Formats: sequence, structure tokens, C-alpha cells
Amino acid sequence: MSLVEVSELHRVFRMGRGAEDVTAVNRVSFAIEPGEALGLVGESGSGKSTIARILVGLEHADDGSAVIDGVDRLRPARSRAERLARARAVQMVFQDPNGSLDRRLTVEETLRRAIRLHDRGADVSAGALAALLDRVRLTERHARAKPHELSGGQRQRVAIARALAVSPKLVVLDEAVSALDVSVQAQVLELLAEIQRESGVSYLFVSHDLAVIRELCSRVLVLFRGTVVEQGETARVLSAPEHPYSRLLIASTPGPGWDPERVVRERMSFTQRMEAVAEGG
Ligand code: ADP
Ligand code: MG
Repeated sequence: MSLVEVSELHRVFRMGRGAEDVTAVNRVSFAIEPGEALGLVGESGSGKSTIARILVGLEHADDGSAVIDGVDRLRPARSRAERLARARAVQMVFQDPNGSLDRRLTVEETLRRAIRLHDRGADVSAGALAALLDRVRLTERHARAKPHELSGGQRQRVAIARALAVSPKLVVLDEAVSALDVSVQAQVLELLAEIQRESGVSYLFVSHDLAVIRELCSRVLVLFRGTVVEQGETARVLSAPEHPYSRLLIASTPGPGWDPERVVRERMSFTQRMEAVAEGG
């Protein structure tokens, strides 16, 4: 059985006051196997974060199902213990560790809290803490630092360590490397791949950037306005995209053979096609 089975997931934001409702997630289905990294790509507003937030329980769905490790995540948890068990199974890493790390806590305190939240009797040994830091290539020195004393890449490593502290089955990363410089991005992606090889954790890796998805994800799902327009092996989608929107996304990603003229040309013809579809033509 797959670790994650999402079926016909649907979420509409009711805007009220005569404004048009937004279908952020439109009947989306996918699966993630144990130890697999699935990429979720699409431009801003395509519904990526809404899907990510539904899976970790930060957002509700209107319809569909999301089963993770045998647990129906759309059914409310019945107890604190059940809520904690769910949180332990699925952890999230956000784009901006400034917003998600407590600025008053040292790295060590942040990691101890994460472990204790899930195991109140836990006596967090120095060895366990050192091992956790080592997994994200940080040291004792970083453990004593507060977030503002660290670089962006180091802060993101702390956020990853905090997620790993409870040995999750799935880590949902929402634009987790998007704010980092390209060279730091590459290091964090390499680290994520290494952690996956060692621990067998699964990733749902959300990004608007196909170049970073290519580095980490064996499969990718392409979203356009809440709808999955294409999914498959990353190498296949990148070399032979079937949907015009995937072709457009790939053309927008600087790389070998990148041609800005082609991006503009394809975007124009794509917009015309989509408008025709919207008008029922
Ligand atoms: P992405 O992460 O791909 O940029 P989001 O999932 O954040 O996309 O947003 C998808 C769509 O849903 C967008 O049109 C966005 O404006 C809308 N949306 C997201 N969250 C809310 C919300 N809380 N209230 C109203 N609309 C929202
Ligand atoms: Mg987003």
C-alpha cells in the first residue's frame, strides 16, 4: 500500500460579497510511496500550498480523501494522543524559517521542545541531540545559537532537524529552498536526498521551480489552477511534457537550451488556448 493516498481532493474558498469563489484544489489525486519524493509544481496561486496544508491538517477539504499511513486525515482527530500521533507522522517545513522558528529559543531548545512535545517523559540525551544536529550537518556551536545568529541555509537546516526530531513518515516541504541562494539551495537539496537515503522518509516537495524538483524528485505532479494537468516520472515530464502548461513551465526554467523568446511565444498561445477553453470553445 502507498504511504499517501490522496483521492479527488477538493477545496473551494468562498469569497463572499459577490466575489467569485476560488477552486484552489480541483479533484486532485496522487499517491506517494514509502521513501519516495514527489514534486508538486505549478505557478503561484495554482493550489500547491493548499494541498500541502490540507495534508498536515492546517486546512480542511470540502471533498475527497487523504489517507496517510492508513489514517484518514480528513476525519477530525478524536483525542490529543491521536492529534500528536498524526503530527508525528507528517511534519512540515515552510519557506521562511524566520516565521516558523521561535526567535527567543536557541537551536538546542527548539529541538528539545520538538522531541518533548511528542514524548513528555523524554530525557533528551546530549547524544541524541548531537546525532540530530549531525544529520543536518550542524554542530554544537550552532546548537547554542539563536535563529538570527544563523544564515538562511542554517536556519532551514534547523527547521529540517526539527521536522526529523519525531521520526516522521512524510515531510511536506513548501517552497523550502525557494528563498535560498542557488549554491545553498543545492547543498540543502543534497542533504534532503541523503536524509531520505538513510531514513527512508517520504517527501512531498512543493516548488514553483522545476529546476529544484528535478534535483530531488523522481516523480512530479503539475498543477494548473488547482487541477492536475500532468503527472509522471520527472525525467519523462521534463523531456517530453504532454500538456501545453507543462511545456510552458519547462520553457520558463532557465537551463540548457532555454529561450526567453519561446517562453513569451508559448505563454501567449497558451493563454489564448486557455481562454478558448474557458469560453467553451
Ligand atoms: P500556491 O501555493 O500554488 O501559490 P495557494 O494554494 O496558496 O497556491 O492558493 C491557491 C488559490 O487559493 C489562490 O487563488 C489563492 O488566492 C487562494 N487561497 C489560498 N488560501 C486562501 C484563503 N485562506 N482564503 C481565500 N483564498 C485563498
Ligand atoms: Mg504556496
